[in-house]
Amino acid sequence: TVHTDGRFKIKGATEAQQREVDAMVAKFSLPDNKLKEIISTFRGKMRRGLESDGQQLKMIPAYITERPTGKETGSFFAIDLGGTNLRVLRVNLLGNSKVEIEHQKFSLTDEAKSHTLFDFVAEKIGDFLESKGMLPGKDDKAIPMGFTFSYPVLQTSLASGKLMHWTKGITAPGCVGKDVVRLLHDALLRRHIRVDIVALLNDTVGTLLASAYMHPGSQIGVIFGTGTNAAYYESIRNVEKWKKEAKEPVNDSGEMIINMEWGAFDSGYDVLPVTMHDLKLNRKSPNPDQQGYEKMISGMYLGEIVRNALLHMVDQRLVFGGRSSEILNEAWSIDTMYLTEAMCDTTEDLSNVSEIIEKTLGVPGSTIVDRQIFQALSIMVCDRASRLSGVGLVSTLLQRPELLDKPVMIGADGSMYEYLPGFEELVYDTISKFLTPEQFKNVELTLAKDCSSIGSAIAAMLYSENH
Ligand code: BGC
Ligand code: MG
Repeated sequence: TVHTDGRFKIKGATEAQQREVDAMVAKFSLPDNKLKEIISTFRGKMRRGLESDGQQLKMIPAYITERPTGKETGSFFAIDLGGTNLRVLRVNLLGNSKVEIEHQKFSLTDEAKSHTLFDFVAEKIGDFLESKGMLPGKDDKAIPMGFTFSYPVLQTSLASGKLMHWTKGITAPGCVGKDVVRLLHDALLRRHIRVDIVALLNDTVGTLLASAYMHPGSQIGVIFGTGTNAAYYESIRNVEKWKKEAKEPVNDSGEMIINMEWGAFDSGYDVLPVTMHDLKLNRKSPNPDQQGYEKMISGMYLGEIVRNALLHMVDQRLVFGGRSSEILNEAWSIDTMYLTEAMCDTTEDLSNVSEIIEKTLGVPGSTIVDRQIFQALSIMVCDRASRLSGVGLVSTLLQRPELLDKPVMIGADGSMYEYLPGFEELVYDTISKFLTPEQFKNVELTLAKDCSSIGSAIAAMLYSENH
């Protein structure tokens, strides 16, 4: 194998070790012609998703046609159910593109994830309102709230939609195919909590709305976190399936936000650069053959890909002297956070990596070669994720080339975007390869921190009667 990248030259490695590392580099790298092929497939699937239902990229109309201007004011409640946390908030829109938030954050318990999710959510909404002295009595008006829900929902109106399937490890039963707003209302009713969900939004849709409130020119909201997905303003003209059902836009902006559900792209691995380590992960995941693209990009999965690759080397006795450990043998035991730490270790003897191997993986006595191998695998898997993240964005940008004549803002949030070393740089680099220099200089990614939640309050503002 030829490998041109000096970064993956392992000092002190045996020939067999270096050969295996080189083979991994070859498997995880993404040459430009491969990127091009993936982008072209991605764009084709986007177009198909806009034409008709039931396609791999669902391209779901979000029933939101408005764009906030940043001048709106008022105080609105929101719920944000993510992959890791639930947040309940009161958001104060200040009218100068700025907001203040008061919130409570709760980690999703295993019990909530696997059984009682909506009851958990309802309970925490009650706790929050109570702590603010705002819990409505039985004669009070129900409090309008926006509901951000970070799972694929086939939206049937602004405030209703059916859960298509769970992602990101949630397995709560009795939800798939049901209206998730109804499920939440029922759980609230059981507790006599008077809350009215006035808008249901995907987290990417919330991110886009809040990003538009803060920065004019926002066109895309994207999450690179536990899972991944994006939403963008599409011209209704391009949404064949919406026109076919003779649905009219509710105002004359001529645009609607589309929730792409791009995590589902290439779930059959027809074009993505899949390795045996990805296939093994897919097989053992709670949702095999779903979310193919997401499984190569997002935080929930990258640690597991590295674990599979490491075990493959252990079995060939090329790392850790051929020893594994109880922890290393256990699926999902490497949090993606440790890859980030390993990538950032610049100490001479890779002492941080050594600690990860010993303490987190439970493998004692690593050699300097072992540590370099762990670091190299982390870089390969994460760099591939970063480049592939650029693929979705550039495909989305190319869907509306007319917008690229002016500055285009992309609101981005999630742990990968925020913390993965080199992520943004590789995303920009990938985008730059497929736009003209003039187009490229108009593209800007900005951290849309907490925007999935803020956007939910903005939707409540835009669509509740008392605004
Ligand atoms: C879900 C999307 C969500 C994304 C980011 C994916 O697993 O399918 O609905 O937007 O994660 O949170
Ligand atoms: Mg989130």
